[in-house]
Amino acid sequence: MIIVLLGPPGAGKGTQGERIAERLGIPKIATGDVLRAAVREGTEQGLAAKSFMDRGDLVPDSVILGIMKEVLASPSSKKGAILDGVVRTVPQADGLSTMLAELGRKVDAYLLFDVSDDELVKRLSGRTVCDTCQTPYMGLEPGTRCNKCGGTLVRRKDDEPESIRNRLKVYREQTEPVIDWVKDRKMNLVEIDATGDLDEITERAMKALEQ
Ligand code: AMP
Repeated sequence: MIIVLLGPPGAGKGTQGERIAERLGIPKIATGDVLRAAVREGTEQGLAAKSFMDRGDLVPDSVILGIMKEVLASPSSKKGAILDGVVRTVPQADGLSTMLAELGRKVDAYLLFDVSDDELVKRLSGRTVCDTCQTPYMGLEPGTRCNKCGGTLVRRKDDEPESIRNRLKVYREQTEPVIDWVKDRKMNLVEIDATGDLDEITERAMKALEQ
């Protein structure tokens, strides 16, 4: 089963994606995590992506489709995957769908997380993430230890106010058109209210996916 998570930055795709992946017994793959690891390791891909990421701009589609090709070829995604943060543009949606068709596979559901802009800004500006395992935390200061892996919590550079504003603009301009792309093709679009209690949101998502 392949599920693509759609929704603005801060909508909870990472947190909920992790929970849904665990329930379904398939891995969650986040292009943002793959890129941040490449930046940390100082690979060519990381160096090319860093300035886009720091500004809150999108990394070129060719880089993302290259990552997706590797992901889909890996044995761990044989059973399926929860794709978090990809697809973010119409060319990525097209590219992924073509790649999957060549493998005789398809996206089973596009799961769209609905959250108001005010709530998104509040979440992103109050967020820290573990520098090792990428777990996000709300209301914990940078420097605190991650209670999952003992790493250190840091504020993401793209969670600074200016980058947040740009990321929301980029989402409206470049990612929202993907929703119409999905609707136009009569693909399976599942929309959920992603505000409120974390457990309730997971239940909502699981119920919606079962239907
Ligand atoms: P995220 O962790 O999903 O918020 O992604 C962090 C940053 O990585 C984004 O602001 C982009 O710069 C880059 N990125 C991650 N996924 C994609 C994607 N599918 N297309 C383009 N850029 C991406």
